[in-house]
Amino acid sequence: MSAPRRPVLAGNWKMNHGPSDTARFFADFLNRLAPADDRSVVFFPPAISFAAAREALQGRPDVRLGVQNVHWEASGAFTGELSVAMAKDAGAELVLVGHSERRHVFGETSDETAKKVRAVLDGGLVPVLCVGETLDERNAGRAEAVVAEQLAPVLSIIRPDEVAELVVAYEPVWAIGTGVTATPGDAASMHHAVRERLAQAFGREAADAVPVLYGGSVKPDNAAELMSQPGVDGVLVGGASLDPGGFAAICGAAG
Ligand code: PEP
Repeated sequence: MSAPRRPVLAGNWKMNHGPSDTARFFADFLNRLAPADDRSVVFFPPAISFAAAREALQGRPDVRLGVQNVHWEASGAFTGELSVAMAKDAGAELVLVGHSERRHVFGETSDETAKKVRAVLDGGLVPVLCVGETLDERNAGRAEAVVAEQLAPVLSIIRPDEVAELVVAYEPVWAIGTGVTATPGDAASMHHAVRERLAQAFGREAADAVPVLYGGSVKPDNAAELMSQPGVDGVLVGGASLDPGGFAAICGAAG
Protein backbone atom coordinates (compact mmCIF):
# COMPACT_ATOMS: atom_id res chain seq x y z
CA MET A 1 0.00 0.00 0.00
CA SER A 2 1.29 3.51 -0.85
CA ALA A 3 2.34 5.91 1.92
CA PRO A 4 -0.44 8.40 2.79
CA ARG A 5 -0.06 11.75 1.06
CA ARG A 6 0.62 14.65 3.42
CA PRO A 7 -2.05 17.38 3.19
CA VAL A 8 -0.85 20.46 1.29
CA LEU A 9 -2.22 23.87 2.30
CA ALA A 10 -1.22 26.43 -0.29
CA GLY A 11 -1.95 30.16 -0.42
CA ASN A 12 -1.86 32.01 -3.75
CA TRP A 13 -1.74 35.71 -3.03
CA LYS A 14 -2.05 36.72 -6.69
CA MET A 15 -1.35 40.49 -7.02
CA ASN A 16 -1.93 41.21 -3.31
CA HIS A 17 0.32 41.95 -0.30
CA GLY A 18 3.39 44.05 -1.09
CA PRO A 19 6.54 43.68 1.05
CA SER A 20 5.19 45.63 4.08
CA ASP A 21 1.88 43.74 4.12
CA THR A 22 3.82 40.50 3.72
CA ALA A 23 5.90 41.19 6.84
CA ARG A 24 2.73 42.09 8.77
CA PHE A 25 0.93 38.98 7.52
CA PHE A 26 3.63 36.56 8.68
CA ALA A 27 4.13 38.30 12.05
CA ASP A 28 0.50 37.43 12.74
CA PHE A 29 0.15 34.11 10.88
CA LEU A 30 3.21 32.41 12.39
CA ASN A 31 1.88 33.09 15.88
CA ARG A 32 -1.27 31.21 14.96
CA LEU A 33 0.35 28.19 13.29
CA ALA A 34 2.50 25.86 15.38
CA PRO A 35 5.21 24.07 13.38
CA ALA A 36 4.07 20.57 12.34
CA ASP A 37 5.55 18.03 9.97
CA ASP A 38 2.33 16.15 9.16
CA ARG A 39 1.27 18.78 6.59
CA SER A 40 2.88 21.02 4.03
CA VAL A 41 2.15 24.78 4.12
CA VAL A 42 3.15 26.82 1.07
CA PHE A 43 2.72 30.46 0.04
CA PHE A 44 2.93 31.96 -3.43
CA PRO A 45 3.50 35.68 -2.77
CA PRO A 46 3.97 38.23 -5.58
CA ALA A 47 7.57 38.13 -6.82
CA ILE A 48 8.30 41.57 -5.39
CA SER A 49 7.30 40.38 -1.89
CA PHE A 50 9.29 37.16 -2.06
CA ALA A 51 12.33 38.50 -0.16
CA ALA A 52 10.10 39.89 2.60
CA ALA A 53 8.38 36.51 2.90
CA ARG A 54 11.67 34.67 3.04
CA GLU A 55 12.97 37.02 5.72
CA ALA A 56 9.80 36.55 7.79
CA LEU A 57 10.05 32.76 7.50
CA GLN A 58 13.60 32.47 8.89
CA GLY A 59 13.44 29.67 11.46
CA ARG A 60 10.18 28.23 10.07
CA PRO A 61 11.22 25.53 7.59
CA ASP A 62 7.72 24.04 7.90
CA VAL A 63 6.40 26.91 5.75
CA ARG A 64 7.69 26.91 2.17
CA LEU A 65 7.58 29.42 -0.65
CA GLY A 66 6.86 29.30 -4.34
CA VAL A 67 6.44 31.73 -7.22
CA GLN A 68 3.22 32.31 -9.15
CA ASN A 69 4.66 31.97 -12.65
CA VAL A 70 7.91 31.50 -14.57
CA HIS A 71 9.07 31.71 -18.18
CA TRP A 72 10.36 28.51 -19.77
CA GLU A 73 13.51 30.18 -21.12
CA ALA A 74 16.60 30.39 -18.91
CA SER A 75 17.34 34.09 -19.49
CA GLY A 76 17.11 36.84 -22.07
CA ALA A 77 14.91 39.62 -23.42
CA PHE A 78 11.62 38.73 -21.70
CA THR A 79 10.67 41.92 -19.85
CA GLY A 80 8.63 41.26 -16.74
CA GLU A 81 9.34 37.54 -16.59
CA LEU A 82 11.21 35.29 -14.12
CA SER A 83 13.32 32.25 -14.87
CA VAL A 84 13.26 29.02 -12.88
CA ALA A 85 16.90 29.49 -11.86
CA MET A 86 16.12 32.97 -10.50
CA ALA A 87 13.17 31.63 -8.53
CA LYS A 88 15.35 28.87 -7.09
CA ASP A 89 18.13 31.31 -6.23
CA ALA A 90 15.59 33.47 -4.36
CA GLY A 91 14.51 30.46 -2.28
CA ALA A 92 11.45 29.17 -4.12
CA GLU A 93 10.74 25.44 -3.90
CA LEU A 94 7.54 25.35 -5.95
CA VAL A 95 6.06 27.09 -8.99
CA LEU A 96 2.39 27.56 -9.89
CA VAL A 97 1.96 26.65 -13.54
CA GLY A 98 -1.13 27.17 -15.68
CA HIS A 99 -3.21 28.98 -13.07
CA SER A 100 -6.62 29.82 -14.51
CA GLU A 101 -5.75 33.54 -14.53
CA ARG A 102 -2.63 32.81 -16.58
CA ARG A 103 -4.73 30.77 -19.02
CA HIS A 104 -7.84 32.95 -19.22
CA VAL A 105 -6.56 36.49 -18.49
CA PHE A 106 -3.13 36.23 -20.11
CA GLY A 107 -3.94 33.69 -22.82
CA GLU A 108 -1.46 31.00 -21.77
CA THR A 109 -1.97 27.81 -23.78
CA SER A 110 -1.66 24.24 -22.52
CA ASP A 111 1.44 23.81 -24.71
CA GLU A 112 3.09 26.82 -23.02
CA THR A 113 2.08 25.37 -19.67
CA ALA A 114 3.81 22.12 -20.62
CA LYS A 115 6.99 24.01 -21.55
CA LYS A 116 6.91 25.71 -18.16
CA VAL A 117 6.46 22.39 -16.34
CA ARG A 118 9.45 21.00 -18.28
CA ALA A 119 11.58 24.02 -17.29
CA VAL A 120 10.50 23.78 -13.64
CA LEU A 121 11.39 20.08 -13.43
CA ASP A 122 14.70 20.64 -15.24
CA GLY A 123 15.47 23.38 -12.70
CA GLY A 124 14.80 21.11 -9.73
CA LEU A 125 11.63 22.82 -8.45
CA VAL A 126 8.14 21.38 -7.94
CA PRO A 127 5.47 22.37 -10.47
CA VAL A 128 1.95 22.85 -9.10
CA LEU A 129 -0.02 22.31 -12.30
CA CYS A 130 -3.44 24.00 -12.24
CA VAL A 131 -6.27 22.61 -14.35
CA GLY A 132 -9.99 23.30 -14.47
CA GLU A 133 -12.98 23.86 -16.70
CA THR A 134 -15.14 26.94 -17.28
CA LEU A 135 -18.83 26.98 -16.38
CA ASP A 136 -19.85 26.67 -20.04
CA GLU A 137 -17.61 23.63 -20.39
CA ARG A 138 -19.11 22.06 -17.26
CA ASN A 139 -22.66 22.81 -18.38
CA ALA A 140 -21.86 21.20 -21.74
CA GLY A 141 -20.81 18.02 -19.92
CA ARG A 142 -17.17 18.53 -20.95
CA ALA A 143 -15.53 19.14 -17.54
CA GLU A 144 -13.53 15.90 -17.44
CA ALA A 145 -12.61 16.14 -21.13
CA VAL A 146 -11.29 19.69 -20.71
CA VAL A 147 -9.20 18.74 -17.69
CA ALA A 148 -7.87 15.73 -19.61
CA GLU A 149 -6.96 18.03 -22.53
CA GLN A 150 -5.09 20.34 -20.16
CA LEU A 151 -3.24 17.43 -18.54
CA ALA A 152 -2.26 15.67 -21.78
CA PRO A 153 0.57 17.93 -23.05
CA VAL A 154 2.09 18.04 -19.59
CA LEU A 155 1.91 14.30 -18.99
CA SER A 156 3.53 13.70 -22.37
CA ILE A 157 6.67 15.66 -21.41
CA ILE A 158 7.17 14.19 -17.90
CA ARG A 159 9.43 11.18 -17.46
CA PRO A 160 8.14 8.41 -15.15
CA ASP A 161 10.91 9.12 -12.62
CA GLU A 162 9.69 12.74 -12.37
CA VAL A 163 6.05 12.07 -11.50
CA ALA A 164 6.80 12.08 -7.78
CA GLU A 165 7.79 15.75 -8.13
CA LEU A 166 4.43 16.82 -9.53
CA VAL A 167 1.51 18.43 -7.69
CA VAL A 168 -1.83 18.93 -9.48
CA ALA A 169 -4.45 21.49 -8.44
CA TYR A 170 -8.01 21.08 -9.73
CA GLU A 171 -9.46 24.58 -9.82
CA PRO A 172 -12.78 24.95 -11.65
CA VAL A 173 -12.65 28.40 -13.26
CA TRP A 174 -16.22 29.19 -12.18
CA ALA A 175 -15.28 28.65 -8.52
CA ILE A 176 -12.20 30.89 -8.42
CA GLY A 177 -12.87 34.12 -6.57
CA THR A 178 -16.64 33.74 -6.99
CA GLY A 179 -17.71 32.43 -3.59
CA VAL A 180 -19.18 29.38 -5.37
CA THR A 181 -17.45 26.13 -4.47
CA ALA A 182 -17.61 22.76 -6.22
CA THR A 183 -19.73 20.36 -4.21
CA PRO A 184 -17.56 17.94 -2.24
CA GLY A 185 -18.91 15.16 -4.49
CA ASP A 186 -18.01 16.99 -7.73
CA ALA A 187 -14.53 17.73 -6.38
CA ALA A 188 -14.03 14.07 -5.38
CA SER A 189 -15.22 12.88 -8.77
CA MET A 190 -12.83 15.18 -10.69
CA HIS A 191 -9.93 14.28 -8.38
CA HIS A 192 -10.63 10.63 -9.15
CA ALA A 193 -10.64 11.40 -12.90
CA VAL A 194 -7.31 13.27 -12.61
CA ARG A 195 -5.72 10.39 -10.74
CA GLU A 196 -6.99 7.90 -13.32
CA ARG A 197 -5.29 9.97 -16.06
CA LEU A 198 -2.06 9.93 -14.05
CA ALA A 199 -2.38 6.17 -13.56
CA GLN A 200 -2.98 5.59 -17.30
CA ALA A 201 0.17 7.58 -18.07
CA PHE A 202 2.50 6.36 -15.33
CA GLY A 203 0.93 3.45 -13.45
CA ARG A 204 -1.04 3.22 -10.24
CA GLU A 205 1.80 3.50 -7.75
CA ALA A 206 3.21 6.67 -9.32
CA ALA A 207 -0.28 8.21 -9.61
CA ASP A 208 -1.03 7.47 -5.97
CA ALA A 209 2.00 9.51 -4.89
CA VAL A 210 0.87 12.75 -6.58
CA PRO A 211 -0.94 15.24 -4.32
CA VAL A 212 -4.10 16.55 -6.02
CA LEU A 213 -5.35 19.77 -4.44
CA TYR A 214 -8.73 21.49 -4.76
CA GLY A 215 -8.98 25.24 -5.35
CA GLY A 216 -11.93 27.57 -5.80
CA SER A 217 -13.46 29.69 -3.03
CA VAL A 218 -12.06 27.56 -0.22
CA LYS A 219 -12.87 29.22 3.13
CA PRO A 220 -12.44 28.27 6.79
CA ASP A 221 -16.02 26.97 6.89
CA ASN A 222 -15.81 24.62 3.87
CA ALA A 223 -12.15 23.51 3.96
CA ALA A 224 -12.60 20.53 6.29
CA GLU A 225 -15.45 19.01 4.28
CA LEU A 226 -13.58 19.43 0.97
CA MET A 227 -10.39 17.94 2.40
CA SER A 228 -12.29 14.98 3.87
CA GLN A 229 -13.25 13.82 0.35
CA PRO A 230 -11.38 10.83 -1.05
CA GLY A 231 -8.50 11.94 -3.25
CA VAL A 232 -8.57 15.59 -2.11
CA ASP A 233 -5.08 16.01 -0.69
CA GLY A 234 -5.23 19.64 0.28
CA VAL A 235 -6.27 23.05 -0.98
CA LEU A 236 -4.98 25.91 -3.09
CA VAL A 237 -6.50 29.05 -1.61
CA GLY A 238 -6.64 32.52 -3.14
CA GLY A 239 -8.73 35.18 -1.35
CA ALA A 240 -8.93 33.43 2.03
CA SER A 241 -5.13 33.04 2.19
CA LEU A 242 -4.73 36.82 2.49
CA ASP A 243 -6.08 36.81 6.02
CA PRO A 244 -3.73 35.32 8.66
CA GLY A 245 -6.55 34.08 10.90
CA GLY A 246 -8.58 32.65 8.04
CA PHE A 247 -5.69 30.80 6.47
CA ALA A 248 -4.48 29.48 9.85
CA ALA A 249 -8.01 28.10 10.36
CA ILE A 250 -7.87 26.43 6.93
CA CYS A 251 -4.50 24.87 7.86
CA GLY A 252 -6.08 23.65 11.08
CA ALA A 253 -8.86 21.96 9.09
CA ALA A 254 -6.41 19.54 7.46
CA GLY A 255 -6.07 16.02 8.77
C1 PEP B 1 -6.78 30.66 -6.64
O1 PEP B 1 -6.36 31.80 -6.85
O2 PEP B 1 -6.11 29.69 -7.01
C2 PEP B 1 -8.08 30.51 -6.00
C3 PEP B 1 -8.56 29.30 -5.85
O3 PEP B 1 -8.72 31.65 -5.59
P1 PEP B 1 -9.98 31.74 -4.56
O4 PEP B 1 -9.66 30.87 -3.37
O5 PEP B 1 -10.07 33.19 -4.21
O6 PEP B 1 -11.19 31.24 -5.28
